[in-house]
Amino acid sequence: MVRPLGGANAAPGRLGNPVGGPPLLELQAVRRRYGGGETPAVEVLRGVSLRIARGEFVAIVGASGSGKSTLMNILGCLDRPSEGCYRFAGHEIGTLDADALAWLRREAFGFVFQQYHLIATLDVLHNVEVPAVYAGYPEAARHERARALLARLGLEDRLGHRPQQLSGGQQQRVSIARALMNGGRIILADEPTGALDSRSGSEVMALLRELSAAGHTVILITHDRQIASQAARVIEISDGVVISDSARADAPTLPSVHDDASGSDTLDAQAKPDPADDDFAAELARGVARRISPLTELREALHMAGRVLLANRFRTVLTLLGIIIGVASVIVMLAVGNGTRAEVMAQISTFGAKRLYVLPGAEDRGSPGGTLSEADVAAVATVPNVAIAMPFYAGHATLRVGHVDTDTAIWAVTADAPAVLSWPVMQGAFFSAADDDRLATVAVLGTHIAAKLFGRVDPLGQYVLIDDVPFQVIGILASKGATSGQANDDDVIMVPARTGSRRLFGKADLSWISVLIRSVERADETVAEIGAVLERVHHRRDFRVYNQAAAVEAEGAAQRTLTMTLGLIAAISLVVGGIGVMNIMLVTVKERTREIGIRMACGARQRDVLRQFLTEAILLSAAGGLAGIAAGLLTGGALLLLDVNLIFSVRAILAAFTCALATGLVFGYMPARQAARLDPIAALAGP
Ligand code: ADP
Ligand code: MG
Repeated sequence: MVRPLGGANAAPGRLGNPVGGPPLLELQAVRRRYGGGETPAVEVLRGVSLRIARGEFVAIVGASGSGKSTLMNILGCLDRPSEGCYRFAGHEIGTLDADALAWLRREAFGFVFQQYHLIATLDVLHNVEVPAVYAGYPEAARHERARALLARLGLEDRLGHRPQQLSGGQQQRVSIARALMNGGRIILADEPTGALDSRSGSEVMALLRELSAAGHTVILITHDRQIASQAARVIEISDGVVISDSARADAPTLPSVHDDASGSDTLDAQAKPDPADDDFAAELARGVARRISPLTELREALHMAGRVLLANRFRTVLTLLGIIIGVASVIVMLAVGNGTRAEVMAQISTFGAKRLYVLPGAEDRGSPGGTLSEADVAAVATVPNVAIAMPFYAGHATLRVGHVDTDTAIWAVTADAPAVLSWPVMQGAFFSAADDDRLATVAVLGTHIAAKLFGRVDPLGQYVLIDDVPFQVIGILASKGATSGQANDDDVIMVPARTGSRRLFGKADLSWISVLIRSVERADETVAEIGAVLERVHHRRDFRVYNQAAAVEAEGAAQRTLTMTLGLIAAISLVVGGIGVMNIMLVTVKERTREIGIRMACGARQRDVLRQFLTEAILLSAAGGLAGIAAGLLTGGALLLLDVNLIFSVRAILAAFTCALATGLVFGYMPARQAARLDPIAALAGP
């Protein structure tokens, strides 16, 4: 069933450890203590010294609790001695940092654990590939090699299975394939048969013997003397010290492996850095700095994040709710704000920014009301920035033509009215200053009232009775309602100011003075100057000067403040969303502690783990951001149907999405760092 594994790339020549050179692994007086401080210190290894040459098949045997696993963890660079010295191919590695040790694990070691330690969320193929991912091998090569290894181990029809769908023996073979993925020059197997039935156990032992025969250095840890006896050399450990070693300490026997064994081996597909080379340090530096291609990394992280997202759908959606609401509300609120602003701007341009009003009566309602006269109009006209000052009488009158009579607004204004009101005549002409001077009884009609009074008859030249005084129609105004949307804007009749005041209103008190100014920039000054001029005439402030543009702008400013407040609320919900992401990532890190340990044993550097979890956090928030954009657009669409004026801004959408990503980055960093700083041994032990 299991085809021969053939010669491994663990041939002695490739280990660069010529006969007579330093041993492959060498421990000198290694001690390992746990605890200390608050808990009582226990010394688990109490001065272990041993040498293992390349290609050896060594069993370390001892009772449970004697320190075998502790020893294996130190040999496999998963743990460090508290005291003593560990040399790898003659190089002291006690001084190496976490990333350098990760590189060494990745390049030199393959672990086989009693509990298999496969990643439950990955299928068989991807489990086997994990070490190669961290070694940065291209995906195609990785797949090919993992497939080849699995085929040799009789698992070719299990590639897509999850570990929990396999028997213990199959899982252990998967973990052996994983140990061989990067070459597995040194196989460290900690009670590999401990959880297996006797048949699967024998299969695994046969595999280890084969690997040994193929040139791999195999270190087998077991409490079972019978299993240990299958190794060429047996080291017995008891209570943290080596009590016997079947090999002679000075000259360990080398198995008969040959340099040429690796030549035809597909398992030797990649040229690997040789940790025993003279330029070990340079190789190490290169290996540690080696970058996994960002694309591969992103794909791996996407893959993982996707699984995590899907595995906990409900939890994920709840977590992301904050981000979704935040992004959606930023988008909708800014759209509403923009819509309102546009409305205000349209109002300003309709009202005209260049118009001021002088109204009779003081600001303070308690003071006696004043009046405005034509003399005041002349006074206002003396202010330099004033282009036109126009008296304005506004009232109501009954109009009659034939049998039709109607009540309407009547404005008595001057010939300047079309300019001051930006309201041109459409038909005929407006009255002139001369008409005003001679108290002419002429009138200009709004389109609506003209239609009401005259129907289809051309009103020009016709007469209309205003409070029983006949006025001749000389012009029709352009339709204001067409632009303002309000038909009664056109329900107006205009007559010359003096005619109106003398013959219709019977009084000289103006309703207000309409002022057209030259420069909008100086509007505020002009308001003050008009006030000063009139105060000199009136001797008191029994009038008020009103800047309509400023009022509209003030309204706009209030709207902006409102928009900003809403935006702030949206931002707060983004922060809340970020805290949700942080929370879920902390839970994820806790739940996946063992997975992190496995990845580290497979050679993941701290930065690899950091990057993986950070990418997951960012992807999570990106998913939230996208959902938020969708929710925002849908909400906005619904509001549009309800006739709310809103303008979506691409910039706001992009900004909200970027904020969501940044939220993931900021709030995902802490959990990711926590994951990266886990100690491999502690992580492997689980949460
Ligand atoms: P073995 O693998 O031979 O059964 P281990 O190396 O796992 O033994 O453990 C040896 C001793 O070290 C045991 O008594 C165990 O309780 C102790 N030990 C192992 N790991 C720790 C730890 N992280 N903290 C404290 N004690 C530990
Ligand atoms: Mg153990």
